[in-house]
Amino acid sequence: MTAPWPLVTRFAPSPTGFLHLGHAHSALAGWRAARQAGGRFLLRIEDIDATRCQPTFAAAIMEDLAWLGLDWDGPVRVQSRHMNDYGRTLDALKARGLLFPCFCTRSDIAREIAGSAAAPHGPDGPLYPGTCRRLPVAERQDRMAQAVPHAWRLDMPRALADLPAPLSFEEAGRGRIACDPARFGDVVLARKEVPASYHLCVTHDDARDGVTLVTRGEDLLPATDLHRLLQHLMGWPEPAYAHHQLLTGRDGRRLSKRDGAVPLRDLRARGVPPGEARAMAGFPG
Ligand code: GLU
Repeated sequence: MTAPWPLVTRFAPSPTGFLHLGHAHSALAGWRAARQAGGRFLLRIEDIDATRCQPTFAAAIMEDLAWLGLDWDGPVRVQSRHMNDYGRTLDALKARGLLFPCFCTRSDIAREIAGSAAAPHGPDGPLYPGTCRRLPVAERQDRMAQAVPHAWRLDMPRALADLPAPLSFEEAGRGRIACDPARFGDVVLARKEVPASYHLCVTHDDARDGVTLVTRGEDLLPATDLHRLLQHLMGWPEPAYAHHQLLTGRDGRRLSKRDGAVPLRDLRARGVPPGEARAMAGFPG
């Protein structure tokens, strides 16, 4: 892959805890790529879920990145301050009949899935069985008028019908990879409690900020199929992607807060110099 130009990368953590070496690896991958090419490196705080995110962690993220020696260009985008942007995107999709309100509770969905012979699974778990997509219009209007709590789901069959050709994306070192967004089913784009979803906000912001190379962990590789579909539906530009391997611990398992991955600030407290932390995160020198 020839690097996209101008090269704009980003690091987009969710402030649900302190950064550990796995995060540092991800941040350094984007930062290095941008700095080596004379491009831009952006920082975005993905904090739309107020039940899981905390401002203190957002502040700690910036402090820890600065300690590591990373700098970023322009102001930090804090997603929770821009909910109107995501609302406007949802409205545009609604106006084209590409979303439907879903009134199902988790137990409604579980019951329906348990009662069906073959319940297909997608990257995020069992697929939604399409119950509210098939609701008669009058019933839907009635429930909306009664303000029954609802999420908004992408009408996947309609979205796929909008595609003039199969989707794909450019992955560093691998060339073009074919997408299969159908395996997400009628994915939720706005939850009952949080009026937007990760998939919606991340694709919106990458387009808004002119990100040309998305660097992130390979755990998010499957999500790219859906992101490409949203980019197509919204007429947003297509970035290139570089999904990196996840850093593993000595036991060969992925680092996560749960496995006790060491927070960067603990390394700092132990007197580990930033250069050594960068090397531990896979970026020596
Ligand atoms: N906010 C996401 C996370 O912390 C990353 C989003 C992305 O890089 O696309 O897992």
